[in-house]
Amino acid sequence: MTMLRRSWVPSANRADTPFPLNNLPCGVFSTAGSEPRCGVAIGDMILDLAAVEEAGHIDLTDDRLFDVPFWNEVMEAGPPVWGALRDRLTALLSEGAAGAELLHPHLVPQSDATMHLPFLVSEFTDFYAGKHHATNVGKMFRGAENALPPNWLHMPIGYNGRASTVVVSGTDIIRPNGQTRTPDAEMPTFGPSARLDFELELGAVVGVANAMGTPVTVQEADDMIFGYVLLNDWSARDLQAWEYQPLGPFQAKAFATSISPWIVTKAALEPFRTGTPAREKDLLPYLREPGPMLYDIDLTVRMAPRAGPFTTIAQTNYNRMYYSSAQQLAHHASSGCAMTVGDLLGSGTISGPDPLERGSLLELTWGGQRPLRLDGGEARSFLADGDTLTLEGSAIGDGYRIGFGTCTGTVLPAKPVRRL
Ligand code: MN
Repeated sequence: MTMLRRSWVPSANRADTPFPLNNLPCGVFSTAGSEPRCGVAIGDMILDLAAVEEAGHIDLTDDRLFDVPFWNEVMEAGPPVWGALRDRLTALLSEGAAGAELLHPHLVPQSDATMHLPFLVSEFTDFYAGKHHATNVGKMFRGAENALPPNWLHMPIGYNGRASTVVVSGTDIIRPNGQTRTPDAEMPTFGPSARLDFELELGAVVGVANAMGTPVTVQEADDMIFGYVLLNDWSARDLQAWEYQPLGPFQAKAFATSISPWIVTKAALEPFRTGTPAREKDLLPYLREPGPMLYDIDLTVRMAPRAGPFTTIAQTNYNRMYYSSAQQLAHHASSGCAMTVGDLLGSGTISGPDPLERGSLLELTWGGQRPLRLDGGEARSFLADGDTLTLEGSAIGDGYRIGFGTCTGTVLPAKPVRRL
């Protein structure tokens, strides 16, 4: 396990900071009266990379990379540039680095910054690759004997979601309207979802494209991933139950997906690689992993009613997944599907075997049958208007941690239903 890399930025050396020099996550920020631009988090500060590049301290390509409100141009520059940037930033920010005083003016307190989406989300695909989650949901919907569909152990199941409604942490989430039908009713009704849920996920950010018609191996897929974000795949369970057959989720997932403001790079997570669990059935050769491609990342979900205290409602680890993002990406490209720079792949809900490790309210309350008791006394089966839901994630090293920041959102009431 690697040790803390010490920085001349004092707050980056604290054991509890999510953003030590080992991390250097990629975000887009603005300050009062300024345009959004690229920066990296270091301790409780942001290094303004547009300014650092302008001042000539970073010179990786012929074109400027950081004076735009997205990291897609860095991704398009390719993995050698990703590595060179990390090396350069590590040298500039290390304790004892020559010229540190020249960078001081380009440090912005995070408390003064507004965070924006860190990249242009070109496409969004959400998977269903957590076995504990799929088993729990399957038991509720189809019974214990048929919990896992017959294809589940052979491929990562997914659906194509909406990039247009991927939003950065802190964006309010408007409760969706949609069709629902109770089992004994003849006609469906249209109105606000009554079973609004969250899904604890990690999102992989694709940084290298493949040409249409050109599959990739699992190793090539891993090499194509730029980094990871926390992801909340907000879900309307009542809409989902009525609409999902035969083509899968549609409006139940299309209204909002939240991601953390920082992309944690694959390089920062490298010391925390871990393998997928034992295969229950051999995978077809194109899906076999040549090495460990999951990560040991502790994950926490906290929930608060309006003006109420936060309650920790779930704690699990990304190492619970059955399929890695690299396997998902290889599967996605295997048909000849073109994957693009800025493609976002949701892991699927991350749940573990213990009841406290369940990454959705659907599982935590077992379909609403066992409401959660929150600190402060309120009970919840699903999300109420005014509720705030916050995801957190950290890979824990020796005296340091690689954090993702938070991925948070507050539920607002549905818009009134309009009719002709
Ligand atoms: Mn999902």
